[in-house]
Amino acid sequence: MIIDDQYYDLIIVGTGAGGGTLAYKLAPTGKKILILERGDYMPLEEQNRTNVDVFKRDRYHAPEQWYDNAGEPFCPQMNYAVGGNTKIYGAALLRLREGDFERVEHEKGVSPEWCLKYSDFEPYYTEAEALYKVHGQTGSDPTEAPHSTEYPFPAVVQPAQIEGIFHALTEQGLHPSPIPLGLTRQADDPTNDAEVSGVALALQYPNVTLKTGAKVVCLHTNSSSKVVKAVEAQINGQSFLFLADIVVLACGAVNSAALLLRSASDLQPKGLANSSDQVGRNLMKGLMTAVVQLSKTPNSGTFQKTVCINDFYWGDIDFHYPMGHIQNIGGLLTDVIFAEAPPMLSVLAKLLPGFGLKQLATRSIGWWIQTEDLPDPNNRVRVEGDKLYIDYTQNNTQAHDRLIYRWIDLLKTVEKSLDGFQRGVMHPRGEVPIQVMANQCGTCRFGDDPATSVLDRNCRTHDVDNLYVVDGSFFPSNASVSPALTIIANALRVGDHLIERLK
Ligand SMILES: Cc1cc2nc3c(=O)[nH]c(=O)nc-3n(C[C@H](O)[C@H](O)[C@H](O)COP(=O)(O)OP(=O)(O)OC[C@H]3O[C@@H](n4cnc5c(N)ncnc54)[C@H](O)[C@@H]3O)c2cc1C
Repeated sequence: MIIDDQYYDLIIVGTGAGGGTLAYKLAPTGKKILILERGDYMPLEEQNRTNVDVFKRDRYHAPEQWYDNAGEPFCPQMNYAVGGNTKIYGAALLRLREGDFERVEHEKGVSPEWCLKYSDFEPYYTEAEALYKVHGQTGSDPTEAPHSTEYPFPAVVQPAQIEGIFHALTEQGLHPSPIPLGLTRQADDPTNDAEVSGVALALQYPNVTLKTGAKVVCLHTNSSSKVVKAVEAQINGQSFLFLADIVVLACGAVNSAALLLRSASDLQPKGLANSSDQVGRNLMKGLMTAVVQLSKTPNSGTFQKTVCINDFYWGDIDFHYPMGHIQNIGGLLTDVIFAEAPPMLSVLAKLLPGFGLKQLATRSIGWWIQTEDLPDPNNRVRVEGDKLYIDYTQNNTQAHDRLIYRWIDLLKTVEKSLDGFQRGVMHPRGEVPIQVMANQCGTCRFGDDPATSVLDRNCRTHDVDNLYVVDGSFFPSNASVSPALTIIANALRVGDHLIERLK
């Protein structure tokens, strides 16, 4: 074991939405900061995904195996790189709805109240939208809570085919709106992510050091387990110990929980910071289904997602429980999650012999249907020896199914008034498999009660004074919109707390 000869004020483990953003926020303090990242920099051609990923779906899977609750191994769709999963995300950066912070009755249970509210997050959402250059239009989505300022950039223009659907939906009395997108405004690298808006900005400060290829495997504490003393990482097959006053985990909801569980000791046999037995529990990842619409006119297959529909977020005329969020997929050839579901295109191929999968992809418009899943202590990250288990059983499925059928009905209705669509053709759909952990959250929930939560309001562990978790883990409940903007906003919020603590 090599003990690093430097002593740091703070170590951040992971450079995704949480860790990368926190590094940006803390860099100007002048404090000595070390960032440990297991991945490396991602080449630009890998990020831009202009190739036909429908046929190369394993490209964005981590070279490791996790196990489902039947003990079956799978390769998770995880991106270990500087910028984390934001290097391959869709950059749809939506705020949670105001009601997502409250206790909400669902058809099959309850989405619990957060200890902080929308008004606590609002200034940080504003800061996050400015940092990630979010393009959107306030006032267009009736479910969106008030913003203290406009989006920093105007919404992107809808592609012609989507624009037609947009207007047809409006005529049906719905409220489609431009989906807020984080964009760099650079042609060679259009998607704004935690490398561009986090790590790269942090590294402009001489007090910040990044070590890539550094996989953290364990945290070591003092004899009372109340203070983390050292962070153990594997670099090029060698074990290193790094020392700091404060340690922040930002490995993503699954890996941060796994790291705490793997840091068990005689004093903490259930895992570090786990006196509540909540570490790893309440894993949520949302219910996500792709629905494909066949169009007569070809498209590039590589356009950006641009529209979302939240009219059924809180329910429908005949269903008074939350149903969820709908957004267009964008070009099917570039959507890394859609690449998990090529059987849908195979169904279409049977209906249209003579078309290859690529040709079908460029004649299709895809939609994501997203519904919140509810926290369940039995849905959890579990570690046994070297193996990482994802015990996950879906819940809240009726709300999701209703939204799918409602949406397909609406598509059939609007297709009647639009040119360019095959009438009477089915709308194949496919739910994402366990491999897709894109919207993972909730494994170290924050709250005021140490018996039922892992983190306090500042995302400091209740049990260990100098240990924080600043990634998707802190969510006490999920939402139907994707989590990245809230993870970013939370990192900026915790950053303010840490700036005070480091003074
Ligand atoms: C294909 C795809 C599309 C998505 N699209 C959207 C979208 O449009 N909108 C949205 O809101 N969200 C989207 N998401 C989800 C979004 O990317 C995540 O919510 C967000 O990146 C999570 O941030 P995080 O900080 O929790 O973790 P991550 O971004 O996953 O970052 C974790 C970091 O920790 C590193 N790490 C992990 N373990 C270790 C270790 N042991 N040692 C050192 N480093 C470690 C990882 O390499 C990574 O850099 C998408 C995700 C995917 C995969």
